[in-house]
Amino acid sequence: MTVQNEELGDLEVWIDQDLCTGDGICAQYAPEIFELDIDGLAYVKSADDELLQDQGATTRVPLPLLTEVVDSVKECPGECIHVRRVSDRVEVYGPDAE
Ligand code: SF4
Repeated sequence: MTVQNEELGDLEVWIDQDLCTGDGICAQYAPEIFELDIDGLAYVKSADDELLQDQGATTRVPLPLLTEVVDSVKECPGECIHVRRVSDRVEVYGPDAE
């Protein structure tokens, strides 16, 4: 896992709110990262727990929460959670990952 994380580098996650169904699965898996806003859609939170209400806002993925975030990506019915490397913005988990 350590080697894999080093290969991945720093990761950030963002949500395409246009496709979010508002079911809240991501917020159940990783409430430190995802939260539903009053508009019924999921948004990411900053490291200091602030909800980032701009569409497509990104936040860093803390490595201890990577598994929960990846599980959210896999279970997201809207297929709208994207995890990418900060360095080159290549998606490593999500609908646009290879
Ligand atoms: S799991 Fe996906 S579709 Fe469901 S609330 Fe989260 S981002 Fe939206």
